[in-house]
Amino acid sequence: MDDWKARTKLVHSGTRRSQYGEVAEAIFMTQGFVYDSAEQAEARFIEAGPDEFIYARYGNPTVRMFEDRIAALEGAEDAFATASGMAAVNGALTALLKAGDHVVAARALFGSCLYILEDILGRFGVEVSFVDGTDLDAWAAAIRPDTKAVFCETISNPTLEVIDLPAVAEIAHKVGATVIVDNVFATPVLSRVLDQGADVVIYSATKHIDGQGRALGGVILGSKAFIRKIVEPYLKHTGGSMSPFTAWIMLKGLETMDLRVRAQAATAQAMAEALQWDGRLDRVIYPGLETHPQHALAGRLLEKGGTVLALDLKGGQAAAFRFLNALKIVLISNNLGDAKSIITHPATTTHQRLSDAQKAELGITPGLVRLSLGIEDTDDLIADVKQALDAV
Ligand SMILES: *Cc1c(COP(=O)(O)O)cnc(C)c1O
Repeated sequence: MDDWKARTKLVHSGTRRSQYGEVAEAIFMTQGFVYDSAEQAEARFIEAGPDEFIYARYGNPTVRMFEDRIAALEGAEDAFATASGMAAVNGALTALLKAGDHVVAARALFGSCLYILEDILGRFGVEVSFVDGTDLDAWAAAIRPDTKAVFCETISNPTLEVIDLPAVAEIAHKVGATVIVDNVFATPVLSRVLDQGADVVIYSATKHIDGQGRALGGVILGSKAFIRKIVEPYLKHTGGSMSPFTAWIMLKGLETMDLRVRAQAATAQAMAEALQWDGRLDRVIYPGLETHPQHALAGRLLEKGGTVLALDLKGGQAAAFRFLNALKIVLISNNLGDAKSIITHPATTTHQRLSDAQKAELGITPGLVRLSLGIEDTDDLIADVKQALDAV
């Protein structure tokens, strides 16, 4: 099974069949599990085997199938599934850190990740230093002998900066810091972050893993020791576990994820190329374009440029709003990685909370829109975007 290729793993890894021999994965919609005897219950509370369950907050057969399948794909020893991507980010950080610890994080982060690092961790006495994630000297200057963890998004939201993960990990590992990456934008299909120095990988399964806009979910992947000794005790007692029904949705999502993500990335590349010299745009940001500042790095770290691109419209917010309102196929919404193409205006939605100075520092200009490509026909999508630009 270890030598299966990704697409085989995504269909078959982790499967557990009941006595009925069902083809599609069963939903074990149960909170609890019956023991044959009091002695068996006692033994299981001392140490549960890989297919022995106690309570759904601790684990469940459908959830375990999902954890094993995504771990097989990622090449991780183990995984813990969570109720949302944010439960995964919060779980990984809070399970590891304690008062007095120091963390270094890239500044360009998903809004809620920034809230955890900037507001919540500080309240519990964790010191966080923020750096420009693309500046290796800044990482080297900020990481101290007592730095416990570093945190970054491998491709940042929404300006799609690519972090030199192998270089950051090398600096972090010199002081023994744990490298935690939120790898949503790079996707588990197009990147191999555990091979590039990450110790812990986090996904919002809400995005490409479900990929069909149905459920919130998340997952933390890493060594068996990290997942079972650090993450599991924290999450099973604090309640961030994934529901069996969600796990079933995510298992079915994994089956088609490779096909979807590759189609989405191909469309994103075609869209970026079709728009890159369009005079109505100040910038077309996509790691797969040669004009992207980290294009060469992206080529080393990622199989393709990803499924999301950012466009900066001339004419600021008014132009951006007219553009969004004129789209006929692409939906105005703030999810990404979905089968449906989705567009958002970060400055007034996902990053509204930031001050104007913070937005400017992160490159979130009034004209910037983030476009997540779906699996619709590429030519239809390019035509839709072009007619909406005409309408601006
Ligand atoms: C969406 C997202 C999250 C949060 O995931 P939820 O499932 O919405 O909780 C975290 N990080 C990144 C990069 C995301 O895109």
